[in-house]
Amino acid sequence: MKYRHNSSLYGFFSFFFFRSSIFFLITFILMSTTTSAWAKSTVAKSTVVKTTVANSARLGGDAKRMTFAVNLSKKVAIKVFTLAKPYRVIIDLPEVKFHFPSGYGRKAKGLVSAYRYGLFAPGKSRIVIDVKHPVLVTKAQVIDVSGDKPARMEIILVKTTKEKFTLNQAKQNLGKGMSSQKPETKKPASKTKTKDATSKEDPRPMIVIDPGHGGVDPGAIGSKGTLEKKVVLMFSRRLRKQLLATGLYRVTMTRDIDTYIPLHDRVKIGRRNKASLFISIHADSISKKRRRRNSVRGSSIYILSNKASDAEAKALAALENRSDIIAGIELPESQNPVTNILIDLAQRETNKLSYMFAKLQLKQMRGAVKLHGYRTRSAGFRVLKAPDTPSVLLELGYLSSIHDEKNLKSPKWQKKMGKVLLKSIEAYFTQQVAVDPY
Ligand code: ZN
Repeated sequence: MKYRHNSSLYGFFSFFFFRSSIFFLITFILMSTTTSAWAKSTVAKSTVVKTTVANSARLGGDAKRMTFAVNLSKKVAIKVFTLAKPYRVIIDLPEVKFHFPSGYGRKAKGLVSAYRYGLFAPGKSRIVIDVKHPVLVTKAQVIDVSGDKPARMEIILVKTTKEKFTLNQAKQNLGKGMSSQKPETKKPASKTKTKDATSKEDPRPMIVIDPGHGGVDPGAIGSKGTLEKKVVLMFSRRLRKQLLATGLYRVTMTRDIDTYIPLHDRVKIGRRNKASLFISIHADSISKKRRRRNSVRGSSIYILSNKASDAEAKALAALENRSDIIAGIELPESQNPVTNILIDLAQRETNKLSYMFAKLQLKQMRGAVKLHGYRTRSAGFRVLKAPDTPSVLLELGYLSSIHDEKNLKSPKWQKKMGKVLLKSIEAYFTQQVAVDPY
């Protein structure tokens, strides 16, 4: 897709008038059509005093019946439920530190194809078990510490039919999900205010950096075991420091700890902060099945579009959009079609700015870092869907390539890429000021 930049004065004024007047309308529509339990749980650090530690986990059984057992430093209340498309078993716990050896949960056994674990929200941890078939959870309990034996969580999964699974889900939705105890009424410690509400008078542009994935969603996994969620957070923190050092910008991060945040909440954080620019940071990976894994490498930049620019971009967006599924939440319902028309209009205008930034970033990356392709690409990334926030998604490189994996972990390379971003951000706002002097 190509956008022509309108250079007439009239064009600029009408464009910005349109943007500012539509902002309030869109804000109103989005606030009234979407709600989220996690919206306020962004980067707040938990204040749990004694964190429970999970030391080891064990999967036992066969293709019909399996036990999933976890040793814990103390007894906790759990809630277990199932989800379909794909079939998953979700275990929610209070905040737990997982001291598992790396690679835990990635090997298939019996009914289970893999499992993930991590922080899901402040004060709340989650384990997501991917199962190969529909299952019933026939037991979910936590046995208390006894003598020198640690507390032990035990979940029993039994293979079932699709029909029985669906029936059980209906029961679950009526509030009969399996709990080891009565659900806690006490809310997790999420009252801590985030840095969202920065001074309203500060005229400096607000940059929102969005480190992809986190917590229960590890993102791509490198050939040497590097986790996307970790490198993108490391990079984002460094970028924030670099941006703040210029004194020219305000910066907010969608997450500053290893926690999961639903995709639409990331979008909301950008909007709530009235971000001038939203930059989602990721690292790609290609499957082991593809040959020449090491030769597929380099950085690329993406913007939002309904129709993907190419098959690879489409596949990538589908992969990145799976974040919520990976973390075990159901996708939010689609919005009212009437409001969509208005949002589409604003989105088109915003997309021009996203494209303008992406082009500048591509130009700065050329020659400075290894590129994967020489154009701005686009697809239906859900995290870029704020209708009034220019948004881009930067894939730093391929964790499946040993060269890129090494780069991504290197502070020196991270700094270099940070500088590249700094230059394009500066160029972007210089162009913007030229366009809109007020
Ligand atoms: Zn990603």
